[in-house]
Amino acid sequence: MKIFKFGGASVKDVESVKNVSAILKLFPGEPLVVVVSAMAKTTNALEKVVKAYCSGSDESAALLNEVKSFHAQLLEQLFPDANAEVYTKVNNYFVEIEWVLEEEPREYDFVYDQIVSFGELISTTIISYFLDGLGIANRWVDIRDCLLTDNTYREGKVNWEESAKRVKAIIPDLINERNPIVITQGFIGATSENYTTTLGREGSDYTAAILAHILEAESVTIWKDVPGVLNADPKFFNDAQKLEQLSYHDAIELAYYGASVIHPKTIKPLENKNIPLYVKSFLQPQAKGTVIGKDLQTKPQVPSFIFKSDQVLISIAAKDFSFIAEENLSSIFSCFADLGVKMNLMQNSAISFSVCIDDDAFKTPKLIELLKKDYWVRYNAGLQLYTIRYYYPSTIETLSQGRDILLEQRSRTTAQIVMKEAEKPA
Ligand code: ASP
Ligand code: MG
Repeated sequence: MKIFKFGGASVKDVESVKNVSAILKLFPGEPLVVVVSAMAKTTNALEKVVKAYCSGSDESAALLNEVKSFHAQLLEQLFPDANAEVYTKVNNYFVEIEWVLEEEPREYDFVYDQIVSFGELISTTIISYFLDGLGIANRWVDIRDCLLTDNTYREGKVNWEESAKRVKAIIPDLINERNPIVITQGFIGATSENYTTTLGREGSDYTAAILAHILEAESVTIWKDVPGVLNADPKFFNDAQKLEQLSYHDAIELAYYGASVIHPKTIKPLENKNIPLYVKSFLQPQAKGTVIGKDLQTKPQVPSFIFKSDQVLISIAAKDFSFIAEENLSSIFSCFADLGVKMNLMQNSAISFSVCIDDDAFKTPKLIELLKKDYWVRYNAGLQLYTIRYYYPSTIETLSQGRDILLEQRSRTTAQIVMKEAEKPA
């Protein structure tokens, strides 16, 4: 059995939905579990609905209507028969969202999951019916019957043991010669009380990896709008190159430092069962793409660049000029942990501790305020963080030419540099 994952960009319009069916046709009779994200930017659009609703704005209905009309247009083009069952199904989902919006808002994270999750329920429903129409036999699975999480809304933690039981009880029985394909949602799960949860933004890759791990799949393929894993984001770097292959370890490192191609949680469940991960272009499905697996030397051996903008560098020193020692560090770390702020880079010296974080309109001021209670705090915003894996000294020189470096750190394999915003990234 193979696991396929199609993200929002691969199901963004009529053409791309048709393209998904064309890709599936390349694997006739092959047992496939197909994990699909919400269409195009639906998750962002539903996020806006939630924000409006929770802040008491009356815009939520209008914002939801935008999501509705996007899907309505798509439905009309994919299903000329206006009486087709899929219309009722999709409409019912929107009615369910409206029910939520009619009630008094509850806690934001909870509401978020109850509403945003419909993006995936709707996309998979549309795709499943569309494939039916083409005679591609498939079964639609509500992944919330399979994946149990705790009730950390927006970042549900998977209960692996119980999820494994459920997945094994449900999915393999649906797959047979006449019906080789299961279509299901990425990104979502459910609590033991049957409330919907989400696994964190871009979490559909992770869903694919969880299912692959539990079902001991032969491989996972993530179908993307790029030819594979590139050594740099083509949005920011000219001459980005495709990596033929990567070790699990390198893939985890790249994802951890912020390469957006794979969700960071995806690799570990695959590595533990030695399941290869293919990243391939949905525009050129026959092309080789990138393979990530065990004992694969990353090839070609070129530096990989990860670029993050909107960084803040914070310097923290004790008010009594004492050294930054273990007790201070532990209290500093709790401030970050309590607010859920991820440290992108840290460095310690005798009297100060420096940290680079993503600027967040809500969390950054809170963090600084909290730290200021016990420390002297200085900070610098509007910075860029470059992480370079397999760097050469010359790579760093070229990158930082004529620019102010605020912090630099090098290990044998990885260099990280915090710099002032340039006119345009290298
Ligand atoms: N639709 C979700 C998101 O946009 C999950 C995913 O695409 O992986 O974050
Ligand atoms: Mg996505």
